[in-house]
Amino acid sequence: SIVVTGATGHLGRHVIEQLLEKVPADQVTAVVRSAEKGADLAAKGVKIAIADYNAPETFGSLFASGDKVLLISGNEFDKGRVNQHKVVIAAAKAADVALLAYTSAPGSLTAALADDHRGTEEALLASGLPYALLRNGWYHENYTENLAPVLQYGAVTQAAGEGRVSSASRADYAAAAVAVLTGEGHENQTYELGGDEAWSFAEYAAELSSQTGKEIAYNAVSVEEYTGILAGAGLPAPLAATLAGVDASIAKGELVVSSGDLSRLAGRPTTPLSEAVAVALKG
Ligand code: NDP
Repeated sequence: SIVVTGATGHLGRHVIEQLLEKVPADQVTAVVRSAEKGADLAAKGVKIAIADYNAPETFGSLFASGDKVLLISGNEFDKGRVNQHKVVIAAAKAADVALLAYTSAPGSLTAALADDHRGTEEALLASGLPYALLRNGWYHENYTENLAPVLQYGAVTQAAGEGRVSSASRADYAAAAVAVLTGEGHENQTYELGGDEAWSFAEYAAELSSQTGKEIAYNAVSVEEYTGILAGAGLPAPLAATLAGVDASIAKGELVVSSGDLSRLAGRPTTPLSEAVAVALKG
């Protein structure tokens, strides 16, 4: 089987959808936390397994020898994601799976946000399992799905200076994961994944201006100011600091990925940012 954790998340749903274009549904297992949330996947004929990274016993007999597994990193920042991911790695090791692919972060990213990914990569390599590191760069959707305040204030407020980001759509990263899960020769490979084009926030603001016909400027603030703005908007202080830390990394060029691995694996160019903007504006 091809087994996908986080299958009811945004990326996971793209992965399942694209897997179904390549393999029969009964060869795909979606790992979900809630059967209700996975009901539409079950309706497509995909097998459903219910498990939680916080409950090791739920992964006890989930994997079988020869499975190819995609571990999609979790989003519970306060629950110790490295230990959560280790639960999946240990279960995969015990079952002797053929491949464990993990959605990581670019090797160039030094922001605190990358710590859990580096810790998980270390555990995966130490397990001795055949692995594939899918070091995903940034999603277009991190920005394009949060346009309300940008349109309200006519400003893209970030602390990234002149830094550039080679983002791609979640569907692009899903295509790379599907290529690795359904193809050959990906054992013990590390892929640095990012969009074909890197853009600056000034260019992003200009794209928004041109597509909305409104004046939208890039309001470049300091990391301290940005942390305050995020906290003021209701984000918990640690998360605000972590996200502002990402902008500091962007300013240093750490989210530019120029390997070409993503379009190579996907077998097509990555989705342009302008297209993600257009989709978001259509709402
Ligand atoms: P989502 O938040 O949409 O999905 C996260 C998935 O992880 C969900 O399916 C969720 O399950 C699952 N999950 C969380 N905690 C647990 C747990 N304890 N046990 C089992 N499953 C769990 O994120 P995306 O799909 O957009 O992105 C995938 C991952 O990539 C994120 O979780 C995060 O680690 C990382 N990420 C990367 C970004 C980038 O730009 N590269 C941006 C943002 C996140 P459920 O559906 O039940 O909630």
